[in-house]
Amino acid sequence: PLFEEPKDGRRADVTYDDIGGLGDTVDQIREMVELPLRHPELFQRLGIDPPKGVLLHGPPGTGKTRLARAVANETEARFFHIAGPEIMGSRYGESEQRLREVFQEAAQNAPSIIFIDEIDSIAPKREQVTGEVERRIVAQLLTLMDGLEPRQNVVVIGATNRRDAIDEALRRPGRFDREIIIGVPDQPGRREILGIHTRGMPLAEDVDLDEVARTTYGFVGADLGALAREAAMDAVRRILPGVNLREGIPAEVLEGLSVRRDDFLSAMKRIQPSALREIMIQV
Ligand code: ATP
Repeated sequence: PLFEEPKDGRRADVTYDDIGGLGDTVDQIREMVELPLRHPELFQRLGIDPPKGVLLHGPPGTGKTRLARAVANETEARFFHIAGPEIMGSRYGESEQRLREVFQEAAQNAPSIIFIDEIDSIAPKREQVTGEVERRIVAQLLTLMDGLEPRQNVVVIGATNRRDAIDEALRRPGRFDREIIIGVPDQPGRREILGIHTRGMPLAEDVDLDEVARTTYGFVGADLGALAREAAMDAVRRILPGVNLREGIPAEVLEGLSVRRDDFLSAMKRIQPSALREIMIQV
């Protein structure tokens, strides 16, 4: 979908507790986005304008989208999701019109967060742009951002893996003038993320998440999520030969089912860190 807006206007499922390994990044975004959306009076009192745009920058799968959703959810703001590459319309002027519509709806339903994923695809550096469409979209986005009034309570969050590919005009004051770097998690970060993704899993006693965290160098959140899911599927595959699926799974089998260290080890053989995948593709 071009932009999705869940019926109640939020995603009840994602909270700050669902994001691991980002350290004080969460506090940074709360200060930049949540505070002004919740307490515009603070900024009014001090006579300063809250940020209109925040740029999240970091490799794929590190939690940029999840973070933006969590802020929207925790702030009880509407969440409008624009997938950069998908907004490119085929008809003349279609993409700009869509952008205008999203901004308008966001303003009407404020407080709102407009999340533009892969913003580099809709706002690439203009000198590098060959297509007229991109040129017009960048111009439209700039106009819309300049037109946002602080009292409208709309914050735009852009996400990109390639900060340097973005039109510089977008990063001027009053536009995306705040930047948050979302890096690849370190070992304690990976441990935290693994904790989140195994929260609902029965783990066997031999599973040591610290060990998993140590041995997953280079894994980002999306990789760790995939690893936990794969390990769980291996646990399922382990019990399958012993059950007759047509008869349903006996309660004692279900109760005895847990994810073991071996399941993680075998899952590790299949899940590659996405950074490594990219390198392999490039080679
Ligand atoms: P992309 O740039 O590819 O859009 P992204 O940085 O927006 O990636 P998300 O879409 O937020 O990444 O993450 C994908 C999935 O990976 C999430 O739904 C979540 O399951 C997991 N994930 C990523 N980062 C984290 C994290 N920091 N903590 C917990 N889970 C994470």
